[in-house]
Amino acid sequence: MSPHELEERLLALEREAAEAIQGEEEVSGLEALRVKYLGRKGLLTQLLRSLKEVPQQERPRLGQLANSVKASLEKRLEEAKERALLRERERALRSETVDVTLPGAPLPRGRFHPISQVMDEIVEIFTSMGFQVAEGPEVEWDYYNFEALNIPKDHPARDMHDTFYFSSEMLLRTHTSPVQVRVMQRQRPPIQVISPGVVYRRDSDISHTPMFHQVEGLLVDEGVSFSHLKGTLGFFVKEFFGRGTEMRFRPSFFPFTEPSAEVDIGCVICGGRGCSVCGGTGWLEILGCGMVHPEVFRAVGYEFGRLTGFAFGMGVERIAMLRYGINDIRLFFQNDLRFLEQF
Ligand SMILES: [Zn+2]
Repeated sequence: MSPHELEERLLALEREAAEAIQGEEEVSGLEALRVKYLGRKGLLTQLLRSLKEVPQQERPRLGQLANSVKASLEKRLEEAKERALLRERERALRSETVDVTLPGAPLPRGRFHPISQVMDEIVEIFTSMGFQVAEGPEVEWDYYNFEALNIPKDHPARDMHDTFYFSSEMLLRTHTSPVQVRVMQRQRPPIQVISPGVVYRRDSDISHTPMFHQVEGLLVDEGVSFSHLKGTLGFFVKEFFGRGTEMRFRPSFFPFTEPSAEVDIGCVICGGRGCSVCGGTGWLEILGCGMVHPEVFRAVGYEFGRLTGFAFGMGVERIAMLRYGINDIRLFFQNDLRFLEQF
């Protein structure tokens, strides 16, 4: 190769490489160009092998030219790379821009089950009157669930409780009343407790589920009378259903209270005019109550006469259905979020 030809080819390579660098925007592409032109097996290195073919006296000049071509291309590559990095950073910044004026994305929030909400509210009203919360086992002895509550084995009242039995002596409690017996066995009066909890009966339809919730209350002391019971429940009804809610007591029967009563409130749906919910009567039954039966006192070893007391119990699902206008109790336990999220 003649010196002139080598010189021409060096300059041509510089032009070609400079043009390629100019047109390349990506960092990776620039790196590929560096390898192609300046790498150990690159075009410039290959061209320099021809240096030994030119006459001795021309070599320093051509060597210098080759060095300056290399330096110039390295400088171009470096500058082009800096520009490419800058562009990449700008692109990243643009694509990751946060619009701070957009409304926040709502996080899904959990909430308490409507039954828990209603039960908590009932308990809160009674604790504000000085009742203390008492709890007991859900797997219960027949003795506490029935016998001690004046319901012996052959008592017809047992028919009202479709009971889940484990054995002839052990069962799933059918009401929270056994807690009353356990509390009275444990401590001496004055007693003023409220016992919220889960109970079980073999029953399932539009107004019954095999598992449901009750809140029971018990107050025992000297000189407790039916008027104390009326005052306590009257306060509860007004707090829970509203100041103007009407209330009435109807005589009833429970084995563990005497006298016994059922409490109705003026229908919260129609305001007493009569509707399908209240069956046209204008009244809704919400709970059962009465004065503690002497037999129950005898079972726990209390002397009846000096001590008297009242007890009451209500179904939490029924109260919740009345409050929210729900007509099928099973909705509470199907765990459909579209239903549960409304509370
Ligand atoms: Zn009504």
